[in-house]
Amino acid sequence: MTTIDLHTHSAVSDGTDTPTELVAKAAAAGIDVIALTDHDTFDGLDEARRAGERDGVVVLPGVEWSTQVDGSSIHLLGYGPRTDDPAVLAELAQVREGRSGRLPAMVAQLTAAGMPLTVADVMEFAGDAPSVGRPHVADAMVARGYVADRAEAFRDWLVTGKPGYAHRYATPLETAVDLLLGAGAVRIIAHPWGRGSQEQMSVRYLADLAARGKIDGIEVDHQDHDPSARDELRAFAEHAGLIITGSSDHHGVGKPDHDLGCNTTSVANYQRIVDLIRERGGTLGQ
Ligand code: AMP
Ligand code: ZN
Ligand code: FE
Ligand code: FE
Repeated sequence: MTTIDLHTHSAVSDGTDTPTELVAKAAAAGIDVIALTDHDTFDGLDEARRAGERDGVVVLPGVEWSTQVDGSSIHLLGYGPRTDDPAVLAELAQVREGRSGRLPAMVAQLTAAGMPLTVADVMEFAGDAPSVGRPHVADAMVARGYVADRAEAFRDWLVTGKPGYAHRYATPLETAVDLLLGAGAVRIIAHPWGRGSQEQMSVRYLADLAARGKIDGIEVDHQDHDPSARDELRAFAEHAGLIITGSSDHHGVGKPDHDLGCNTTSVANYQRIVDLIRERGGTLGQ
């Protein structure tokens, strides 16, 4: 059996394993193929590829891009982009700037809410990660004893409408899909019905994106989708001829219940991704 997990994070964004550790864990778990899909950066890909060569794991280069539709956050997975594409690099840099740029507002709001915190406190947990996120703010809150874990920090303080939330820039979805195509990549909507994105990602809207050739597939098997969401999304994707993926969205210890390989992608769907990357002149990382 070939085990394929196409959505994972390292400490280059908000996962807790280095790319090398992540690949070693995948090898130990008997996973044959992983995609490293850190938020808004390619920085971990070289290290992951080298670790994959050493440990006998195929590492598909990827990214999870922060996009938005009508101001609502939509995560877009890109597989096999040429990582030197200037337009993609410029846009991702802008998204990362938005990530760091909102930190002063977040810590000021949390401080005002009775939880003193500084940007330096947060950066202690981000380390040298180029992509800083709310999970790093959550880690700083846990360390100060304000909350028990990342989940509590998000639930009570960091999600939209809560006192620690601050807006940040995200690329319009339709811009990101075009940029990824220009860089030879395959575009898959991550967890389309996870965490409140069901409203934006209606079947009608997904069908429209697919009909206009803006997306290549959707992530169906994901921990944020219950069995009925998976059934409905799978039936839609099959009808629309879209690629179907399943993945762990592993974040190390940062997200319980997202163990490597907890959801997987079939060989046939993986092969469609590889064939499209080749056809579009993207990179498989070798
Ligand atoms: P940000 O990238 O700063 O917008 O933060 C969102 C990221 O935080 C998501 O991509 C998830 O990886 C992570 N996340 C969201 N909700 C939770 C949660 N309840 N517990 C842990 N991590 C979460
Ligand atoms: Zn994340
Ligand atoms: Fe995501
Ligand atoms: Fe993710």
